[in-house]
Parts: sequence; C-alpha cells; structure tokens
Amino acid sequence: MLPEDAARRELVERAGRTILGGAGYRRIETPAFEATELFVRTVGEATDIVRKEMYTFDDGGGRSLTLRPEGTAPVCRAYLEHGMHKLPQPVKLWYLGSFFRAEAPQRGRYRQFWQIGAEAIGSGTPETDAELIVLLAELLEEVGAHQLKLRLSSLGSPQTRAEYREELKSYLRANEERLSGDVRERIELNPLRAFDASDPGTREVMREAPVLLDRLDESDAGHFTRVRELLDDVGISYEIDPTLVRGLDYYNRTLFEFESGSLGAQSGVGGGGRYDGLIEQIGGSPTPAVGFAAGVERMLMAAGEPEAETQPIDLFVAVAIQEASREAWKLSREARRAGLRAQSELAGRSLKSQLRHADRVGARYTAIIGDEGEVTLRNMSTGEQRDVALSEVIGAIT
Ligand code: AMP
Repeated sequence: MLPEDAARRELVERAGRTILGGAGYRRIETPAFEATELFVRTVGEATDIVRKEMYTFDDGGGRSLTLRPEGTAPVCRAYLEHGMHKLPQPVKLWYLGSFFRAEAPQRGRYRQFWQIGAEAIGSGTPETDAELIVLLAELLEEVGAHQLKLRLSSLGSPQTRAEYREELKSYLRANEERLSGDVRERIELNPLRAFDASDPGTREVMREAPVLLDRLDESDAGHFTRVRELLDDVGISYEIDPTLVRGLDYYNRTLFEFESGSLGAQSGVGGGGRYDGLIEQIGGSPTPAVGFAAGVERMLMAAGEPEAETQPIDLFVAVAIQEASREAWKLSREARRAGLRAQSELAGRSLKSQLRHADRVGARYTAIIGDEGEVTLRNMSTGEQRDVALSEVIGAIT
C-alpha cells in the first residue's frame, strides 16, 4: 500500500467500524500464520488453496506453519481456544488484515492481499445468513463499489452434497470424452469445479448437468427460501446461481458472492456462506456459523479512481537563519500538541525554497522565524504578512 492509497484504505476500515460495529460485530485479529493442519482440515485437501496456494514452512522446531490464506478457520480456532462458546450466541466478529496465497499475480490478484470479513458463530437461523449478506452489501455500497451483482445459492447438507457428488461424478464420467483434461483428471477429487471450467466442451456438458439446488432436502430448501424472503424484504436483489462454487470446502447451505462488472477477469469482490460443520471439524461441539470475506483491493478497484488527495496543513515553520531552527523545532511541536497540523523545515533549504515547499504541502500559514525569535506570519492564500511574537503564533491561526 502506497501513501496515496492510504485514505481509501482508511475508508474501508471506517466502514467496517461503522457498519459491522454498528450491528454488534466486534473486531478480532488473528496471527498471520497458523498450524498448517488448520487449513488443510477446514479449507479442504482437494482445494486449489491447499493444493498449491499456501505459503507453508517449517518453524525450525518440527512444526509446519502456514501464512493464513483465509480468515474463517483462524477466527473459529480463536473462538474455541478463547472459550467464546460460553458467551451469548451468536458471537459476532469482524476482521481486517492481510492474507497470503501463492497465485500468479495479475490485476486484482496478489500474493499478499487484504480482506475485510465478518463471522457470526453460534446461530443457525436464516436471519443470520441474511444479515451477513446485507452487511456486505452495505459495506460495498459505503466504499462506492460499482456494477455489483449478488449471486446466491445453497449447498444443502453434507449428506445431500455427498449424494449429489456421486450423481455428478457419474454424469461427468458418462460424458468424459467431451471434458477438458484438467476437469477429467479431477472428476474424483473435485467434480464441482467442472462448473467453473471455461473451455467450450466442458461448458456444454455442464449446461445439462444435474444441479445441487434441485436436490435439497425439505429443511435446507426451507432455509434457503427464508433467506431469499429476508433479502426481498429489504430490497436486496440477487440472482440464483446453482453453479456457484467457492474455492473452500467448509460451506453448507447458503452460499453467496458479490461480483463487479467493472473488474474484468477477477470479478469476485467478496462472498461467503454458512459453515455449520467447521467448528466441530476443529475439535469443538457442533456449532452453526456463517460469514463473509471481501477483498479490499478489489473493493477499491470496483469503486473506481480515487479522488486526488489533499491533506492541507495548518502551519509550516520556516527559518530565516539556521540559528532559529531550535525555536522552529519547538514551535512546530507545540502547534501539533495544540491540535494543529504542523511541520517544520527538515531539509536545510533556503528561505525561498522553504516558502515554495510550504505552498506545495498546502500550508495555510507559514511562520518565518528570524534572528532573536521574531516571527513573520504569512497567510499563504492571500500572501499577507504580519509580525507576531513567537508565543502568539498558535493563537493567531486557530
Ligand atoms: P475467498 O476467500 O477466495 O472467497 O476470497 C474472498 C475475496 O478475497 C475475493 O472475493 C477477492 O475479493 C479477495 N481475494 C481472494 N484472493 C485474492 C488475491 N489473490 N488477491 C486479491 N484479492 C483476493
């Protein structure tokens, strides 16, 4: 992140605090690395993330650690480790931090990137799913992301999914010769990924493929209907997309993703879903949960060009002669302590270049300190100058 991006980053953080904090989500930050096992178990051994995108290293003591590729598993680990299951449920948390995936970098895809995310752990109600979707929509709106589309689906229960997987595998095997080599190789390991393929042959096969949404049991179907009703109630539009897949294994029931038409190939801005089995998978008791994560760089890309940033300062303290630099040093500090934005000359420039520099940094006033501590106060927009005592400078411009 370069200084010119800082203001927009701060906007995301502020939006998180206002929107997520306002809904009762409390901030949590987990360490940059975790035991590798945590991600292998939850994100899933067959996923791209675990197969090839993790930065994994030995810590020198025989433990395998991994730079976190995502935030949900670490937050769930913290939930368990810190006894949050004893708090009133759901426990609502949000985070903002950097994540790491060894991917080929391109526009919108980085090896270190930022995510803002939220998790509600300990509630299985459809209201919780809908709340997270609405909060993500509000965050994206607040940041100014354009051309958004919400895709929504349901994965049902692990059992429905397992049965469906078998059905899909048989279908893929029956049409094997029309599939791309990559998809064919992964029929056993990850048949759902075939929906993501871009080659024409596979796409044609997938148009006729059975879809999981048609196989949901009554209770999963009821849950999904309720989530949709709740979104309808607050005017959030969405598109049901039975082919929606996300690159993590832990989801069940509701799955959602916001895309932006202004992003090109890497169109996913943020998404999430329900993950009722995850806490149990890492050693807790069965605990329903739902969450989302959105990529900060992509949110900002979808928000378009930043406005030119100006951060004017109140006072630039210049020196007419080098001997005055100690007075200048004290005055700029005093001014900052009085709540002003103030800088003093640090580069030993001539008076003329100091004034030019004061102009460049957008100073409202420049105090020029001379011999014996006399001060000329210059209003930088009018050019008007007057002499004031050193002790009166701050009072004169506040
Ligand atoms: P995921 O955890 O894969 O669902 O990713 C959630 C969001 O994080 C995506 O929608 C992207 O906005 C963002 N994201 C994921 N991977 C990257 C990456 N390599 N570079 C930048 N943003 C990413």
